[in-house]
Amino acid sequence: MIEQKINEFFGDAEATGFGTGWWSGILSAFFGFLSFGGVLCLHFPQLLSSPELRPHYPMHIMRILIQCLIVAAILFGVISSIKRKKKTLALSGMLLAIAATVLGGSSVQINGSLGNEPAIGLDWFLLDLLLMAIIYVPLERLWPQYPEQGTFRNEWTLDVVYFMSTHLPIQILSFLVLLPAIQATKYLGVPGLQALIARLPWLLQFFLAVVVADTAEYFIHLALHKVPFLWRFHAVHHSSKALDWIAGSRSHFVDDTLVRGFILVPMMLGFSQSIIFAYLIFVTLHATWTHCNFGPSAKWLEKYLVMPRYHHWHHTSQKEGIDKNFAIHFPWIDKIFGTYYYPDAWPEKYGLDGEEISPNFLGQTIEPFIPRRKRTL
Ligand SMILES: [Zn+2]
Ligand SMILES: [Zn+2]
Repeated sequence: MIEQKINEFFGDAEATGFGTGWWSGILSAFFGFLSFGGVLCLHFPQLLSSPELRPHYPMHIMRILIQCLIVAAILFGVISSIKRKKKTLALSGMLLAIAATVLGGSSVQINGSLGNEPAIGLDWFLLDLLLMAIIYVPLERLWPQYPEQGTFRNEWTLDVVYFMSTHLPIQILSFLVLLPAIQATKYLGVPGLQALIARLPWLLQFFLAVVVADTAEYFIHLALHKVPFLWRFHAVHHSSKALDWIAGSRSHFVDDTLVRGFILVPMMLGFSQSIIFAYLIFVTLHATWTHCNFGPSAKWLEKYLVMPRYHHWHHTSQKEGIDKNFAIHFPWIDKIFGTYYYPDAWPEKYGLDGEEISPNFLGQTIEPFIPRRKRTL
């Protein structure tokens, strides 16, 4: 419902291809939103910026970035309003950019020292949204597998809410996510193993870490599918009827916590922090990419590394693909355990196989805790 309203508000009956003013309008609104959020972070850093990230910001670059976003929002807004009859997008983008400028723009000074109290983490949400959108949206628009599926497909706002939910409470969530792993290292830390692994070349250490992580992922993912209580949580991730970069964010926080905990526990036995950090960046980029609406594939690489078509088969509601392809990085892990399914074609249908779950974020968050027979929805 909300998606429909937003689409109606921003969209119109005019064409949305390149050169129609649609994309310049979208870019104007997007950059305007980011610049406004960026300036808010400068004004209220204590409340809105993540304490973990604050010490690492090169502030002069962040200020240049905010300045560029303001200029880009106005520029694209002007282009869009020239080309397009309905100017809602262009006006929204330009108004946000003007508001950001009126509020002091990129030159707002940060006064006093900042404490470590929990914060909302708007900075991390805005930066990651910008980074992910810049990487994946052009790939999906230039080489889509399903060209008729737009960037603002049905349910996209639901997935934006999921994206937001995993970014805003960064402190709470990262605490939740790391808790099982940190607890376990107290009892399981193996210094001899750490020393042994540290002697290997960095790339080999990284490769081993991905193998360990993906094997752990395989088993927890299998459990999420086979244990009915766990499936209630994982079903949320499988409820997307169309996949793209942001559909991968749709995941219940219990699901996320279990998966990351299971992956991090074995990794923390023997790998250094820099390897684990590198893995976290890799998994974010690769797992997002495997959900992309991206057609091209490298045949020679397909057997060794998970490509979008491989994970799309994991998301199909077609019988032949159900409970297959649990690995997220290496298809050969599924081959070893007999759950490999990789035809040349793409699936025709995605989503849950005849199961109904709540269509909104709140419902999807609460519902899995309630046994199916007791649900009123
Ligand atoms: Zn799954
Ligand atoms: Zn997935």
